[in-house]
Amino acid sequence: MSDAIANTAQKAVTTAVQRCIVPACAATFGIREQIYVCPRCGGPLQIEIPLELLQSVPDLRERWHARASSHDARERSGVWRFRELLPFDGDAPVVTLCEGNTPLYDAPRCAQYAGLTVLRLKHQGCNPTASFKDTGMTTAVTQAKLLGARTVVCASTGNTAASLAAYAARAELQCAILLPQGQISPAKLAQSMDYGAVVCEIAGNFDDCMRLISELGDVPFIYIANSINPFRMEGQKTVAFELLEQCGWRVPDHVVVPGGNMGNSSALGKGFDEMLRLGLIDRLPKISVIQAEGSAPLAHLFAGLKPSQFGPEAALPDELAPVANPRTLASAIKIGAPVSWKKALRAVLRTRGNIITVSEPEIADAKAIIGRDGIGCEPASATTVAGIRKLVAAGKIYAGESVIAVLTGHVLKDPDYVSHYHRGTLSFESVTEQGTTKSVPIGGAFRNAPEKVAATKEAILKSLESRR
Ligand SMILES: [Zn+2]
Repeated sequence: MSDAIANTAQKAVTTAVQRCIVPACAATFGIREQIYVCPRCGGPLQIEIPLELLQSVPDLRERWHARASSHDARERSGVWRFRELLPFDGDAPVVTLCEGNTPLYDAPRCAQYAGLTVLRLKHQGCNPTASFKDTGMTTAVTQAKLLGARTVVCASTGNTAASLAAYAARAELQCAILLPQGQISPAKLAQSMDYGAVVCEIAGNFDDCMRLISELGDVPFIYIANSINPFRMEGQKTVAFELLEQCGWRVPDHVVVPGGNMGNSSALGKGFDEMLRLGLIDRLPKISVIQAEGSAPLAHLFAGLKPSQFGPEAALPDELAPVANPRTLASAIKIGAPVSWKKALRAVLRTRGNIITVSEPEIADAKAIIGRDGIGCEPASATTVAGIRKLVAAGKIYAGESVIAVLTGHVLKDPDYVSHYHRGTLSFESVTEQGTTKSVPIGGAFRNAPEKVAATKEAILKSLESRR
C-alpha cells in the first residue's frame, strides 16, 4: 500500500467514534472511551467509521482478497483482513484465532426441501469455538487489551461464554463467566472450563447476573463483553463482506438469519450498509429474521406493524413487549428480551425483509435436512431453512431467487438434541389454552435411528438393502 493510501486508511480508523443510536441524543464519544451504553441517555452505542475517507482508497476488494492467502495470522483472519473498516490502529494488539473465512456451501437437498432452485448456507459454526460469536469476540477482546483491562466478563450459558473464554485465554486475560446457580448445562460449559475461565455460579437468576454485569462495568480493570458491547458488532459485520466476496460481489436477493439476541442480524445490516455507502455494491439484499414460535418477541411486533411503519425511513416503535418465559429447544435463541432488537428491526425494514416464526417440529426437521446435505448445525441455525420454506410457500421468496441462510453454530454444540431427534425421543414443553404446560413429542419426519444388526456379512448387506 502506498504511504498516502495507508495514511488515509489510518485516518479513517483513528477518526472513528462511538455514537448513541437514539436519534434525539446521537451523542458521540471517543473510540477508546471505556463505555458500553450512552453515558448521557443510556441508549445503545454504535461505532461509526468515516467511510468518506475510504472512498478514495482504490482496490479495496482486491486488497482484502489478496490477504486471505497470506501466512500472517492477522492478514488471514476473516475479520482482520477487512481492517480498513475496523476501529483499530495498525499497531493494535490484535487477538485472533484465525476466525472467519467460513465456507459458503451449496445445499441441494435443503433447496429442494425449501422449494428453491438453489440455496446456499454460510456456516459460521466453522469458527474456532464453533459459533458465529468468534468474529465479534476477536474485536471486543482486542479492545479490552488496548484499554489495559485485566479481566473480561460476560453472563451467558452458551456460545458467548465459550468464545469469550477462548479469546481471553489467547490474550492472556482473566475471564469470568457469570451463571445462575443450578441452571448450568455441563455440555455448554465444557468449552469455557477448558479455556480456563473463572466460572462463577451466582446465587440468583439470570437477571441477577445481568445486574452484576452492569455493576462490574464501573471497575476500571474489568471489561464487559456482553451483547451490548459495540465492538463485537464491528467484527461480526465482516460476515457481510466475506459473503459478498464469496458471491463474486453479486448481491444475493435474500439473506436469512436466526433471531435470538439480534446481534447477528444487526451486524449483517451494518456490514451491507457500509458496502453500499462505499459504492462496492449497488443494492442491499433483503434481510429476514426467523424466530422460534415460543421465543418470538420481534416477530410478534413485526406482525403488528401498520403499513405506515414499513419502509426504509419509517420511525421505529419505541417499545418491544418481551416474552416473559421464552420456550424453545433451540437454546441459542431462547431469548425473551433481545438486546439489539431496534438495530435488527431497522435492518429488516430498510431492506424490506421479513420476520416470521417457525415451530419446534419445523426446526427439528429442517435441521435433519441440513444434515443430509452433509452439513451439521445447532438447532437455532435450522430456523433459517425452516423459515425460508415458509417464505417460499407464502410467495415472499421466489423459487429462482438467490438465497443465503446463515448457520450460527456447529452440530456438536448440542449433540443431545440430535440424538433424541433421530431416536424419536425429542419432545418440547408447550403451553395449553388453559395456561398449563404439556410435553409434546416431536415425531421427526427424517429420523435415522441406529439399528441392531447380527454380526454377519449377510445381516449387514440385508440392512443396507432395506435402507436404500
Ligand atoms: Zn444517548
